[in-house]
Amino acid sequence: MNKKWIGIAALTITLGGIALFRLSEVDFFLKEPSFEPEEISSAENNETFLYGINVTGLNIIEGTVSKNQTLASILSPFNVPYQIIDQIAKKSKEVFDVRGIATNKKFTIITPADSAQAQFFIYEPNSSEYVVFNLDSLDIYKAEKPAEFKTREAGGVINTSLYVDMSNLGITPDLIDMFADLYGWSVDFQRLQKGDKFKVVYEEKLIDGQTVGVTDIKLAYFEHMGMPYHAIPFEQNGEMNFFDQEGNSLKKAFLRDPLKYSRISSRYNLRRFHPVQKRYKAHLGTDYAAPRGTEIRSVGDGTVVEAGYSGGNGNYVKIKHNGTYTTQYLHMSKIGSGIKKGTRVRQGQVIGYVGSTGLATGPHLCFRFWKNGKQEDWLKEKIPPSEPILAANRMAFESKKMEALQLLAQIPAGTDEKENLASNSSPDFKNQATAGSKP
Ligand SMILES: [Zn+2]
Repeated sequence: MNKKWIGIAALTITLGGIALFRLSEVDFFLKEPSFEPEEISSAENNETFLYGINVTGLNIIEGTVSKNQTLASILSPFNVPYQIIDQIAKKSKEVFDVRGIATNKKFTIITPADSAQAQFFIYEPNSSEYVVFNLDSLDIYKAEKPAEFKTREAGGVINTSLYVDMSNLGITPDLIDMFADLYGWSVDFQRLQKGDKFKVVYEEKLIDGQTVGVTDIKLAYFEHMGMPYHAIPFEQNGEMNFFDQEGNSLKKAFLRDPLKYSRISSRYNLRRFHPVQKRYKAHLGTDYAAPRGTEIRSVGDGTVVEAGYSGGNGNYVKIKHNGTYTTQYLHMSKIGSGIKKGTRVRQGQVIGYVGSTGLATGPHLCFRFWKNGKQEDWLKEKIPPSEPILAANRMAFESKKMEALQLLAQIPAGTDEKENLASNSSPDFKNQATAGSKP
């Protein structure tokens, strides 16, 4: 049997998460049934489970896929007949294509206590899922690892930009995007003041104790030039939305920006010198400079009415949102997959990628906006707000708001809270600043 180990002697495996061993030494440890892998939780009757499998008394061998390893080269040292490997490779196609087994991914092999023939092979294609191959019954299924959710909070002061100052606190780009989108219509993040403040309560998803992403914002606060902007969640008409301290909805029919982290490089202008055509010409769009490949998002729900190429527009997509509004996105390097005439799109859905096709000097998005058939200045348009808190919900909202303010007040944002307390008399704000100076 030792011969079988030689071919993959370079593969290191973790035995019960306790130590690393060379596979060539594994047969010795397989005879040692006394270890207890970390992932196993003991039930009252002393039964242990791993990946939902009752592994009481079984041997568990953990490893990572080494370079060029295949299902066959992983399993054959564990006495799995080639016919079985072949059968499960074929059978697993709809669940998980075993040709996708990749270097450095984690796997686990489970063998009976008295045999070195693998009974289960479990592969983790990513940090949140696993695929179980039952080598006896030839059952193959994919499952999600149990996730844990944790509420976290952060607060800080703007010195450079929302992106830089939030990143410095360890806030992920995902969360910065969510925050910027939440306030898209109330705060112009391109024109922040030094000393503006932010606070955010959010939920993180963890798997195996590792953060895999931010699921949502629970509560937020932004202070621009001493003015407070709250984002308080409240469910109304069966839909969860964010409202300001007066009970006005922060949500609008459209996103403020079709790109994330972008800079407006040219505004709607009826008389602009065209950089390519070298003549004065109306610019009826808003240009956003961004690196090639940046995702372009539909600003609202709608239906694609045009998706294609023209000499001036390059690759472009036009979306009709309703009887009043239509938007168009030009110079794409590539149109998003599945985006064609007639496709229904949702607000925020990626419809293409920034490029410089058509009449463009460099990569940017030219964004055009029609209201009742006429091209208008997107940056000047007053987009109708969503419904505010209804009279019937007022009491419930006020109580939710008080809770929110108390929670926010416990999050420190900056060092100069006292100064702001003195210069602002808004009761909401006072509450913020007073308690905000607590550690
Ligand atoms: Zn333009």
